[in-house]
Amino acid sequence: MFLEPLYVSTLLYGFGIVCLIGLTAFYLNVLTLDGFVAGLIVGVPILVFGGFDNFILLLSFLILGSVLSRIGRDIKRLYNPIGEKVGTRAWPNVVANGFWPMISSVMIYFFKDPSVKLLWEIFFMGSLASMVADTSATEIGMLSRHKPRFIIDPDSYVEPGSSGGVTLLGSLASILFSILFGFLAYLVSGFNPLTRFTLIGFSPLIYSKGREYVILFVIAVSGALGSFFDSFLGASIQGKYKCVVCGNVVESHIHCGKESMYLSGVRFIDNHMVNFISGFVGGVIAVILFSLI
Ligand SMILES: [Zn+2]
Repeated sequence: MFLEPLYVSTLLYGFGIVCLIGLTAFYLNVLTLDGFVAGLIVGVPILVFGGFDNFILLLSFLILGSVLSRIGRDIKRLYNPIGEKVGTRAWPNVVANGFWPMISSVMIYFFKDPSVKLLWEIFFMGSLASMVADTSATEIGMLSRHKPRFIIDPDSYVEPGSSGGVTLLGSLASILFSILFGFLAYLVSGFNPLTRFTLIGFSPLIYSKGREYVILFVIAVSGALGSFFDSFLGASIQGKYKCVVCGNVVESHIHCGKESMYLSGVRFIDNHMVNFISGFVGGVIAVILFSLI
């Protein structure tokens, strides 16, 4: 049945490993306490069902995000005057980024058909790639000397760090990190004997023999496209407000301690919701590309 003895011990090992990494992240101020709890809920299934190779990809995304958020902190603080902790992930952030990787990891385990397993694996990587690309575009784009242009109206400019704003530097970073992540996906894709291990069974990518470079290409492209789509959603359907105190266009309905004025977009769609949607879209793009090529 479902809970075989091996499975229980695997779950315990997985829980222990994720707990250890999560606590380290908490003490390094990468995670808040609720972010840590959310990280356990998301991270344990990814490790136990998705295996070590997928977990390595997840970790690389987390490490990249926290390293990039620490670059140019002083500049970034200027754009974030309300004292929100720069680079610390709370639970909505963890869930928005980790939900699709978690779901696809569970699917990879429970589907028995190798070709279906493989497609979920591609979905996992595509969805993570779009978050890698989005994170690097945001974190590096904020260091640009030029003000971001509004993606759906390139003649107008928006504040650095705000959703829907794009800079050349940020876009280049998003493409570069998509390619690097695609390369990492290729490296852990079960062909390299050093990384060919998982907690349960072996990587579904083994079924894609002969298509190793396709994975690199597919993941790189879906990352960049997913991040582009993220900016598009941020510019269009994400809720925008005007602060009644400081007068800035803001993304939260409360700013400077006061209820902000509604401007545009859908009220309940915030930045986390946008990341959640574009993570799904990144995965779908990867699956479609992989099936077409
Ligand atoms: Zn304000």
